[in-house]
Amino acid sequence: MSDFAQTVKQQADIVKVIEGYIRLRKAGAQNYSGLCPFHKEKSPSFSVHAVRQFYHCFGCQASGDVFSFVGKIENVSFPEAVRIVAQKCGIPLPKREFSSPEQAAESRLRTKLLELHEAATAFFEEQLRGPEGAVAREYLAGRGLTPEGIKTFRIGWAPDSFNALRDLLSPMADNETLRASGLFSSKEVGTGPDGQPQFGPLYDRFRKRIMFPIANESGRVIAFTGRTLETGEKAGPKYYNSPETPLYSKSLVLFNLDKARTAIRQAEFALLVEGQMDCISVYLRGIQNVVATSGTAFTEQQVALLRRHTSQVLVNFDPDTAGANAAEKSIALLTEEGFTIKIVTLEGGLDPDRFIRERGVEAYTAALRGARRQSDYLIERARQLFPGTGAEQKLKQMNFLLPHIRRNPERLVRDQFAGDAAQKLGIDSTVLREELRQAALKRRDHIETRAANPADRPSLSPAWLSSMMGSDREMNRRLLSHASAAIQEGTQNVKESGPSTISRVEQILIRALAVTDPEFDQARRVATSAIASEPASFEHLAAFSVLQALAARGSKDAEAVVEDPGQRAMLAEALLGEANPPKENEVASAIQEIQERIIANRLRDLKASLAEASRRRDDAEVEALLQQKLELDRALQRLHLHRPGL
Ligand SMILES: [Zn+2]
Repeated sequence: MSDFAQTVKQQADIVKVIEGYIRLRKAGAQNYSGLCPFHKEKSPSFSVHAVRQFYHCFGCQASGDVFSFVGKIENVSFPEAVRIVAQKCGIPLPKREFSSPEQAAESRLRTKLLELHEAATAFFEEQLRGPEGAVAREYLAGRGLTPEGIKTFRIGWAPDSFNALRDLLSPMADNETLRASGLFSSKEVGTGPDGQPQFGPLYDRFRKRIMFPIANESGRVIAFTGRTLETGEKAGPKYYNSPETPLYSKSLVLFNLDKARTAIRQAEFALLVEGQMDCISVYLRGIQNVVATSGTAFTEQQVALLRRHTSQVLVNFDPDTAGANAAEKSIALLTEEGFTIKIVTLEGGLDPDRFIRERGVEAYTAALRGARRQSDYLIERARQLFPGTGAEQKLKQMNFLLPHIRRNPERLVRDQFAGDAAQKLGIDSTVLREELRQAALKRRDHIETRAANPADRPSLSPAWLSSMMGSDREMNRRLLSHASAAIQEGTQNVKESGPSTISRVEQILIRALAVTDPEFDQARRVATSAIASEPASFEHLAAFSVLQALAARGSKDAEAVVEDPGQRAMLAEALLGEANPPKENEVASAIQEIQERIIANRLRDLKASLAEASRRRDDAEVEALLQQKLELDRALQRLHLHRPGL
């Protein structure tokens, strides 16, 4: 590790850095826990040790220091991770070090593209304030945006020009880089001698549009959405977005997450809306935990972004058909990822922006409070899609709901959902009830979401229907046994974190050997010398390899000498268990306990051999074994006598 990385590591607080990505709760004197961002889980098995500055996940064994965390979560190389942590902690960067020329080039390109986007944002803002921006200002004022709001979201105006932005940015970068920024367009004019397409001159991509910057999680602008104010054929699409660039991938960004993430963590839920205007409007009226999908389908990556901050989502999409379908898809995705979801439906068929402008923030907050559980919402939607109470309608309603029920990871949630559906839809058919029961019984992953065409849904098969015509008594019996199984499964699933793999005495030794505090050095020496001088006494322990590595670590960090994932888990388990390293006498008793246990085991074996030998009337053997037993008894006595504290 370079000197600079070392400095950054010393100044950075791993708890604060990790809290920038996921929610952590204090779980002990020195440690914090939360949901692991590297694997799916419902109860926290991810721990961070504040004093030793490492993290460990008992679920997926992810483990390491602040740089490894940032590298993993941001998907960047070590030098990049060092830079990010340094920036977070306000430590000025030295000249950069990169492990490969490609990395250096990529990093230079990204930095340049960020500069270009910053310059473009400032330019668009200036244009909005200027004479050409008058129409746009009027439009924005009409949508209830104040100058402060415009400033907060850095909304701008792209002038009616093919080269205004190009002329401004040309001195900052070469043509290749400008093209990569996505801020410009050019026509393909043919194919070069190398077979690569050739392009005409660059011109401004966004013209005569209101510009909404899209920021990454750190708040840097990485793309734009341009909204036209014109109508008619020449106006082009109403909303026009930046293309995918080295900075921007639309499936990886949630609009406004940079501004919303603190509020999301405080409120312990996120409000998910569809459009950027909805998001801006709601945010500026004080509901700050709001993010938008920007009109595209919610992606798995976006869910993962959200999961770093909360596991509860309020979905408030447009009430039109497209909005309802999008909501249904988002619910499906969020459900599979184990989120708790509620759905807001606004009166009068209004979108969030109009609702909050016309009825005020109190009415909107009241609507949020009245959000329905996903099951209630979906049951209602099933009734809307397939109105009526006839048998055929009920079957269609059921076929709509079954995939949604099956998707829930929690058995108890599935049970409740199925029960509600049966009751609210008035399902009295034994067969349909059994189908609901089956849906609750087993979760099915990743069922395709087919929101638009109900005919595409998987249906109840006729063969299955005829095979299910059992008696009602049989059904009741099965329902009962199923209910108790559900309750058992539910209680067993409460805790997901891994079982303890090492004993208390092993934990004491590991903690003693891993100390960094000189105050506990004597305890460390006791443990080190015991393991070095008599390894045979420790060989049978699960943590033997860890103990050996630690006993030989010298001045290296404990985390540096234990690399095997299984061993790291033991190290983490021991270190996260207790606040303070053990004192000398604790270590000595732990060693004694281990030795006593070995002797006790040998004595047990001896007794068995003795019984066997006396049955055979092998006096010589009995004599020899008795002699051994005597020695072991004495050894045990000696250990007791020397027990510290006695
Ligand atoms: Zn994990």
